[in-house]
Amino acid sequence: MKPGPFAYAKAKSINHAIELLARPGGEARLLAGGQSLMATLNMRLSAPKLLIDLNGVAGLGGIALKNGSVEIGAMTRHAEALRSADIAKHAPLIALALPHIGHAAIRNRGTVGGSIAFADPAAELPACLIALAGEVEIAGDSGRRTVRADDFFKGLFETALGPRDVLTAIRVPIAATDTRAGFAEFARRHGDYAMVGLAASAKAGSKGLTDIRLAYFGIGNAPLRAKQAEAALAGGTVDDAVKALASDLDPPGDVQATGAAKKHLAGVLLRRVARQLMEPRS
Ligand code: FAD
Repeated sequence: MKPGPFAYAKAKSINHAIELLARPGGEARLLAGGQSLMATLNMRLSAPKLLIDLNGVAGLGGIALKNGSVEIGAMTRHAEALRSADIAKHAPLIALALPHIGHAAIRNRGTVGGSIAFADPAAELPACLIALAGEVEIAGDSGRRTVRADDFFKGLFETALGPRDVLTAIRVPIAATDTRAGFAEFARRHGDYAMVGLAASAKAGSKGLTDIRLAYFGIGNAPLRAKQAEAALAGGTVDDAVKALASDLDPPGDVQATGAAKKHLAGVLLRRVARQLMEPRS
């Protein structure tokens, strides 16, 4: 199918993008990598009057280590993040997740900011951001603000972004020597969106794992923390944690699997990820 008619504007700066978003005359959408947006336009799931291209806007790219965090600019392509030595070393959970996003062609165009802003419930990066207790940087017509990942994802494709907001970057804490990361997902074929996935982080010490954060994706309307399982894993065994999932998760079925199958797979993933969290960091 083809999209409905729309106008196109190339933003010259972040402020210019915000100005264009505020223009009267109809709904406007930001264009980043286009990997999700163009599909929704082609399927006529969305029909904005104006596309505002962020490609080439200064201040939206780059990966930097700042004040104890890894900052990833919104327009950083998945492929660039995957090649980054800083992400591999200082944000290992993100490095584990990136190869599961689509295929090489999609990773070459798709952006980190686009994935977080789009908030597909089966996407890898939103769950990583939750597991890492990260933050989202936003510029809007009333200035800049920071939103915690825990407060950012509101529901199905719904986030804390308003209609005149540009997501400028995400930040996650630099991994310390005692930080552990775990990631696993089930997809029908490598590169497909996950049927169920799990992104996790923890601290490893002499008394075992602490500060455990388990973020499931593909299991509801938004990334979902399994808090009972986190507590059970910190104080007990992996079996206890898998049992505790019964009170954390009640996934609806979808085109990929029934709710019961997803719940079963969530337990299998937890066993795999718990093993990764317990391994010493290489
Ligand atoms: P776009 O498509 O350009 O934009 C998506 C939405 O976010 C739009 O509404 C846009 O207005 C908004 N937006 C974009 N940037 C900003 C910003 N800076 N501020 C505010 N709003 C913004 N993703 C996965 O996570 N896992 C997968 O397995 C996966 N498989 C895929 C398979 C295929 C075949 C395809 C086509 C895509 C797949 N994707 C997958 C999606 C891919 O990761 C996209 O890169 C991502 O969802 C959106 O990023 P984008 O840069 O392409 O954003």
